[in-house]
Amino acid sequence: MSSKKLKQKARGAQGKKAPKGKGDKKCRICGTSRGLIHKYSLNICRRCFRECAEEMGFSKY
Ligand SMILES: [Zn+2]
Repeated sequence: MSSKKLKQKARGAQGKKAPKGKGDKKCRICGTSRGLIHKYSLNICRRCFRECAEEMGFSKY
């Protein structure tokens, strides 16, 4: 697991900084944008995933 590497958006000044929800990926539970898991298309972060994992049937992790 090497998901600790967060992509830092170091793009040049494009004028705006993602004002709307398009491409706005946050944890749908706690709203953070750090440590998101895209593996299962859940859009939740690692912390919330661990909490939800049991409910969803994931016993690992
Ligand atoms: Zn979360």
